[in-house]
Amino acid sequence: MYIDPHSHHSIVIIGGGFAGALTAIKLLDRTEVPLWITILEPREELGRGVAYSTTEAVHLVNGPASTFSLHPEEPDHLVHWLAGNASQYGWTPPADIAGSFPPRCLYGTYVRDELSRAIAGARAGSTFRHIRASATNLVSAPHKVRITTSAGQTLEADEVILALGVFQPPLSPREASVADHPAFAASPWDVAALDRVADAGEILLIGSSLSMVDAVASLEARGFRGRYQAISRRGQLIEVRRNAELERDFLAEGPLPTTARALLSVVKAERRALAAAAKDWQALPLAIRPYILPLWQKAGDAERSRFARHLRAFWDVTAHRAAPDSYRAVTDAIAEGRFQHQPARLLALKPAGGLIAATLKTRSGTHRRSFGGVIDCRGHQLHDWRCISDPFVRNLVESGEVSPHSTGFGIDATPEGDVISEEGRVHRNISAIGHPLRGVAWESSSITEQRTQAIALADRILSKLTPLALAAS
Ligand SMILES: Cc1cc2nc3c(=O)[nH]c(=O)nc-3n(C[C@H](O)[C@H](O)[C@H](O)COP(=O)(O)OP(=O)(O)OC[C@H]3O[C@@H](n4cnc5c(N)ncnc54)[C@H](O)[C@@H]3O)c2cc1C
Repeated sequence: MYIDPHSHHSIVIIGGGFAGALTAIKLLDRTEVPLWITILEPREELGRGVAYSTTEAVHLVNGPASTFSLHPEEPDHLVHWLAGNASQYGWTPPADIAGSFPPRCLYGTYVRDELSRAIAGARAGSTFRHIRASATNLVSAPHKVRITTSAGQTLEADEVILALGVFQPPLSPREASVADHPAFAASPWDVAALDRVADAGEILLIGSSLSMVDAVASLEARGFRGRYQAISRRGQLIEVRRNAELERDFLAEGPLPTTARALLSVVKAERRALAAAAKDWQALPLAIRPYILPLWQKAGDAERSRFARHLRAFWDVTAHRAAPDSYRAVTDAIAEGRFQHQPARLLALKPAGGLIAATLKTRSGTHRRSFGGVIDCRGHQLHDWRCISDPFVRNLVESGEVSPHSTGFGIDATPEGDVISEEGRVHRNISAIGHPLRGVAWESSSITEQRTQAIALADRILSKLTPLALAAS
């Protein structure tokens, strides 16, 4: 079927998770002309994506409600929404709503409700539709982009936004050997698998970051009282998010480092200074975050790759900290002697009757141990577009409409998010938001970063469409 919208301002957003839904909200709220917006998203509900589709009430957002309003000009917007709506969705807000860390599923409902509000209040003549299908291909032309979908439709758009989120790698042969075993959970969000292992004696948690906290919170909520063995390559355990305050804008005090080594050196010095002054190291990410984009843009490809190879794991446990209520499940288990964490490499997983035998390489040697449950908590994310097997991504790369970023993270684009083709042509009518821009911006996936991107993207698109529409009217 061929659909021609006969509109000068048709926008197709590919991917209706958090970033896609938020961009639609910003477009609808800020436009002065009618828009035809289509979101292509196979999921039933818009706004949830991977992060906010969880149904587990103990999976919480990783920052206080005061920081996650969808509208920065109204910082209390989420707090007010929670006060008015949370109880009807089964969550009783605490007295300090602004300081609370709400469930992620509730946050997804907030995004969905905000999208409904924006659609209901859209400028007269606007249309909005959600097509429950995936984009399968895209062909660009100077003024229109043609998109085909898994439902056999062809859409034409003036503007296309790639809001595809992040992709998962295929199971490695190591995990594939136990993929169908009842004691194996490929992720902490596999609710049926968590139910199956909830009465195991000991559970192996592969990974020790935020996804591990989700797994422990879910298992404790199910009444699990067995032991946990958490492993991570470098032996770093995620910490709880504390109320640290910015201490010193230390990166403003000299020229920005241009190598990974120089950056590490100034950050280590600042960490030592904080420790000497008995100050919380969690002041560090607050001081570093505003400089990530300039640091990344000033560094050459070799330094970016060096950072990704050697410092990424350190940065991840520094920047990402867990919600206090869900982290309490971990600290309680530690206090009860039921949670052990050690640096180890997983060498093999093999079925062993009702158990799974894991071969682990630790500092003391190679050991084989059996577990009643094994949960992969690494939150696998495949960022290299050359390796993603999704048919749409493959078609985009093979046709040259996009060019995988030289760092191996996402795709090439201008700093504003205009996608650059393999030949180096800037697509003025195809933009990206969120994860595909990791190579361009490094941090591009959190709520606050995507909020800034969505507003800037909506304003950029609207500034192009408005004169067009006025001329046509
Ligand atoms: C488990 C988890 C918890 C997180 N918690 C937090 C948090 O507490 N705070 C925070 O700031 N950040 C958090 N994040 C970061 C998170 O990445 C962002 O907050 C946000 O959800 C990312 O939105 P997105 O739109 O880029 O991706 P998603 O929300 O995942 O949306 C991408 C969408 O694209 C769709 N899609 C893919 N390919 C196609 C195609 N070909 N056609 C059509 N649709 C397609 C997918 O179906 C998906 O719904 C979390 C991430 C995860 C994974």
